Amino acid sequence: MSNNTWICVNNNGHAYDTITAEQNSYFCPKCPYGEGILLNQGPVSIDNEGTIIPPMTQQQEDLGLCIMLLDCSGSMAEPAFMNHPMSKRDLIAKSVSAGIFSLSGNPLKEFAYVLIIGFDHEIEILVPYMSIEKLVQEYRDAAGLEHALKEKMYKKNGATDINGALEVAFRFTQQFINSEISILGTYKPRIQAVLDDNMMNHSIPNVRVLLFTDGGQFMGPDKTTLNPSPFRNLQYDGKVFDLLMSAYYGSSSDKDYDKLKSLASKCPRHPSTDQFFLFDDPTKVANLKGLFRMASGASGFCPTCLDEANTVTRDF
Ligand SMILES: [Zn+2]
Ligand SMILES: [Zn+2]
Repeated sequence: MSNNTWICVNNNGHAYDTITAEQNSYFCPKCPYGEGILLNQGPVSIDNEGTIIPPMTQQQEDLGLCIMLLDCSGSMAEPAFMNHPMSKRDLIAKSVSAGIFSLSGNPLKEFAYVLIIGFDHEIEILVPYMSIEKLVQEYRDAAGLEHALKEKMYKKNGATDINGALEVAFRFTQQFINSEISILGTYKPRIQAVLDDNMMNHSIPNVRVLLFTDGGQFMGPDKTTLNPSPFRNLQYDGKVFDLLMSAYYGSSSDKDYDKLKSLASKCPRHPSTDQFFLFDDPTKVANLKGLFRMASGASGFCPTCLDEANTVTRDF
């Protein structure tokens, strides 16, 4: 028997068909909430006892991963900028889609993976873990992806659980970096060399997590504490590296601006600059495209890295 199967990152025995996977927002219903992300394995063989025969072990040495966390709370339906009619969530759907499709000419696209997670008070996978190559086949063009994202984002509209979204992304990121996800076969993340301010060389996995939001934690009037970012504890090869970059849609005078900024670590290359991007004006939105290129190719983390990338590799 052969079936299109979705398998939990925690346990190869937790396997589901496509309909069940979709109904559970691509999270494993047997694992605790948000802990078992489901990965599509395509058709796999299942023996008479219902046990999965693992697919031929793939060997991939050079995987890149970009996880996007999109705020889909009610406030994201408001206009992004004064005198600008587009809502924040429409703007994010458009920017994310254009950004991902701008990478479709990348020769490494079969090794570059994305995972798009939406959150309000609940966390949902909007686009399951897949290579950019597969994503381009599935959605055809940026408009196709934009449409699919909007359709799912519009169904959310609730409160804002940034803490929960970061925990889900952190768990998957650490599993991925540790090469612990057995269903992916034998794999390793691509490693980048990054020179810091003191000309020290660091090896950093080519994994980035981008958080797009317009506010702070809000799960009720008395539940507004934004926890310290779990990414401060992300480890690779015995060292701690923070791979989270945050993009804030709003004004630097908002009450949640400083809280959100406090999540961000300092850039390893520019120790006085936070891994934090403020989008408070339509002219800054063009930068988003650069953000994706940076997250997937060159080794940048902060607005200063982005400026350098835009001047040096304009036509990447
Ligand atoms: Zn599971
Ligand atoms: Zn930097």
